[in-house]
Amino acid sequence: MSRLKKTLLYVSAAIVALAAVGAIFKDDATAKARKKEKPAKYIFVMIGDGMGATQVAAAESYLSYKAGKLGGEQVTFTRFPVLGLCTTFSANSNITDSAASGTAIATGNKTNNHFLGVAPDGTPLKSMAYAMHEKGYNVGIMSSVPVNHATPGAFYAHRKDRNDYYEISLEIPESNFEFFAGSGILDFNGKKGNLEDIDKVLESKGYDVCYGLGELAESDDESGVVVIPASQKKEAALNYEIEHDEDPAEEDRLGEVLEAAIDYLGDDEPFFIMCEGGEIDWAAHDNNITEMIDAISRFDEAVAVAYEFYLEHPDETLIVVTADHETGGITIGSDKGYMVDWNGIENDSLPADKDMNEKERNRAFSVAHNIGWTTFDHTGAPVPVYAIGKGAEKFAGRIDNTDIYGKVVCE
Ligand SMILES: [Zn+2]
Repeated sequence: MSRLKKTLLYVSAAIVALAAVGAIFKDDATAKARKKEKPAKYIFVMIGDGMGATQVAAAESYLSYKAGKLGGEQVTFTRFPVLGLCTTFSANSNITDSAASGTAIATGNKTNNHFLGVAPDGTPLKSMAYAMHEKGYNVGIMSSVPVNHATPGAFYAHRKDRNDYYEISLEIPESNFEFFAGSGILDFNGKKGNLEDIDKVLESKGYDVCYGLGELAESDDESGVVVIPASQKKEAALNYEIEHDEDPAEEDRLGEVLEAAIDYLGDDEPFFIMCEGGEIDWAAHDNNITEMIDAISRFDEAVAVAYEFYLEHPDETLIVVTADHETGGITIGSDKGYMVDWNGIENDSLPADKDMNEKERNRAFSVAHNIGWTTFDHTGAPVPVYAIGKGAEKFAGRIDNTDIYGKVVCE
């Protein structure tokens, strides 16, 4: 037997032994302790789509550069006391998409890529939002990308195809959840444009569709709201983000939307909020380093809002910040020596090479500053989990994305 084979054999035996020890721990201490405990009264599950450890490290390296340092600056959530590392593979691939990983986080079950809120055989799965709603919690689902996109959809919808946008938004009123927000609603009147405008449908089912936080402030509807940006009233079409409207008066930042959601849901009754920074993933797919850092900063503004709330209710609040997967295979350092050149990262223009498309030019731009990307797609890299508050300690160590459900819901 070769030395490598012997080593592998030894490692396998060790894994079996460890698994047995793990099973004992799970059966006794953990499960018993968990049965007794109750979920936090206020729960924030915050998902930076595509936000791996190096995306966060790049944002902090940039913040440090702005502060005249080589490192040490931090976003809000990396200061949280608990850090875990989460595996993300799906039921049919070692590289997940947002539908399968959103479903894993939301329901505790692996499913196939592109499947949303259903098992590989199509069986509907119950998300933690429904579980908490059943326990009497008010529920808010919000994203900086469209409200019927994969990650928010995983918390309320059940479709075998994540691209069934119109049908996914029809599940908003089915959920009876109190608060929804996003940068718009994809397939506003169906894929072919021949169905009833979705805002009319939602209104007919008892939801107040508010175009911008201004309209929300004036709404006296207490049965349920869907908040999309004011600009959507004119366009009612696919747009990029909540925040990137040309008219700043029409701009609702994710943090402001989260603040509005907390106001709407109130702190007399318990609430569960899922808040997604969705454009981190979109910028990373484009290998656009500047947009990606901007998106992480905006997401962090929302985390800071949740953290402020935590400081007022430290014994009753849980905040979990994680990602559904890593996007772009970003690296700090890319064959240009031992220094990232942050200078000019916001202002330099892209290389004018006619043979490159925009993504390739974004990548060349990043590499010129010594930031590398290995793909325009997702990767199978594990993602960090940051947690603070009641029950936060359960998120420490090496976990899988399907473990998050039980740790939040306490089942
Ligand atoms: Zn993606």
